[in-house]
Amino acid sequence: MSATEDLAASIPTFNPDAVRERYRQERDKRIRDNGPDQYLEMAGTFAHFAEEDPYADPGFTREPIAEDFDIAIIGGGFSGLLAAARLIEQGVSSFRIIEAGADFGGTWYWNRYPGAQCDTESYCYLPLLEELGYMPKEKYSYVNEIFEHSQRVGRKYGLYERAILQTRVQSVDWDEPLGRWRISTNRNDTLRVRFVVMALGTTTRAKLPGIPGIDTFEGHSFHTSRWDYGYTGGDNTGGMTGLADKRVAVIGTGATAIQVIPRVAADAGELFVFQRTPSTVDWRRNRPTDPDWFGTQEPGWQRRRRENFTDQAAGVPVDEDLIDDGWTRIFKAISAPKGENRPKTREERNRVVEIADMAKMEELRGRVDTVVADPSTAEALKPWYRVMCKRPTFNDEFLPAFNRTNVTLVDVSESKGVERITPKGVVANGVEHEVDCIIYATGFEISANFQRRLGLEVNGRDGLSLFDHWSEGLQTLHGFTSRGFPNWFYIGVSQNAFNLNMTSMFDDQARHIAYVIAQTVERGARTVEPSEGAVNDWVSLINGFRVGGLDFLEACTPGYYNNEGAPKGGSGFFGAYTPGPAKFAELLEAWRAEGTLPGMELQGTA
Ligand code: NDP
Repeated sequence: MSATEDLAASIPTFNPDAVRERYRQERDKRIRDNGPDQYLEMAGTFAHFAEEDPYADPGFTREPIAEDFDIAIIGGGFSGLLAAARLIEQGVSSFRIIEAGADFGGTWYWNRYPGAQCDTESYCYLPLLEELGYMPKEKYSYVNEIFEHSQRVGRKYGLYERAILQTRVQSVDWDEPLGRWRISTNRNDTLRVRFVVMALGTTTRAKLPGIPGIDTFEGHSFHTSRWDYGYTGGDNTGGMTGLADKRVAVIGTGATAIQVIPRVAADAGELFVFQRTPSTVDWRRNRPTDPDWFGTQEPGWQRRRRENFTDQAAGVPVDEDLIDDGWTRIFKAISAPKGENRPKTREERNRVVEIADMAKMEELRGRVDTVVADPSTAEALKPWYRVMCKRPTFNDEFLPAFNRTNVTLVDVSESKGVERITPKGVVANGVEHEVDCIIYATGFEISANFQRRLGLEVNGRDGLSLFDHWSEGLQTLHGFTSRGFPNWFYIGVSQNAFNLNMTSMFDDQARHIAYVIAQTVERGARTVEPSEGAVNDWVSLINGFRVGGLDFLEACTPGYYNNEGAPKGGSGFFGAYTPGPAKFAELLEAWRAEGTLPGMELQGTA
């Protein structure tokens, strides 16, 4: 028996052809002609959705700063904090962190919606645990603990003294005669720096759905990333008494909404959930950290644990599953058999993995039936796509929320989204649902146009705009640097390896960038940037990988993972180093070990 037959024989509960056909139908139903353009930027009429900072003193003012310093880290979330920590370790401390919020935290500063929680294990996710000697309270941390952890990092590394808070960078422009970047901000600062590290995060710029009539709604509305506790009352642990007599709409059922919905369901008079595509919702099973267990961890444990997660995500066999959670159960479920049973051809491998994926999805769909009482609601909550088409979610309260009498699920898949918003409410399937409040859980500019993702101008040598330079696709070495942009570094999802545990990825990148900057300083060079040849080679390598992943992404229901169903048009998110983060980290380590910064050009004298 082949591996495929073996597996198919052991799973008699579904017909793979029928499931594949259902996946195709569900995908086609949701594909829109306007793909990523269906979303609205939070600018112009909608600017207030993003600009208001509910956590800062609205009256804050300060004098403009005119200053020269060595390194500007733009962004004070975990990626910026890690860049700072790793620079300090490299002996470089003359930097400042420019941050839009009134504190560090980034994603966890802004996203303080009720129920906000990290979806990967805290022992892997929270960075610098060993350096700080901190034991997370639970296996999956809630936002308050994560936000406090970013403050802890800030204090430990002396970063508050170097922070320029409540300040948005508007543009960074290379000044060749000066050999520095000029940074302009919304507070009229004049900052001139040798190096720029852009650490803007991936969920920085929220987006709104382009639903007709969205600007006509006369009730209250906000995006999950700017939760309005002034209106709802309570805090992220609950007690939203302001919603008790309100009819509330939540639009969206992605990773954020899955956490929000049970909390709103518990407090709102009535809740309508507008769902276009269901998420997979597996068990969470959170639990407090056992201090005895934590105390037995040997030095280097966090790195080993992260590598264990990363290896499993990439299908690399591990001696022991240290994480043992919903994520690693997915990884195990959809990885091809090893050893004697391993598939002999790529085709067979793809088929085996596809059937294993279907089996996992059957299990997740089955879970809906065991929890949700109303059969038609349960049916609508079942996801029909491959498990990694969307970010999987894990939550023990979401599905039970639909058994409450005050909660109604409104399936808007047939109309490819909510039909219309009126002054009084939300129209779906021809019915107007009158509501007092609309909460947009509609995500972020993650995969769309790079300019929209970054939200600031970057102009390199000869005034070359980064976005013009990348208009036909990203042009980088390792995803961090680009030719024509001297002393400029980018941390994030670009032409590098994506890691589901984002802070591992940020840390690997931060270490690398800190090394390159430290080496440039040590060698006394004025500028560092990649050579044309090195960029071309890297882009060719990445484009080679890209072709392989397209079939998978094209067959997925639309979402930001596949650029809303048009993966070929993605602005670089899918130009990834697909051998995975562990291999990418090895590649970077080998590159550093050469000690010659291969492919980078160092010029001039500082
Ligand atoms: P997503 O982009 O994942 O979800 C947006 C939701 O809005 C989707 O359900 C989408 O439907 C829906 N939507 C968009 N337009 C319409 C419309 N016109 N009508 C009806 N529904 C619409 O955003 P999230 O904020 O949920 O998550 C973004 C990412 O943030 C996650 O994938 C994850 O990486 C990160 N995150 C991480 C968490 C963590 O614990 N670490 C927690 C929360 C988020 P459709 O799917 O059909 O497009």
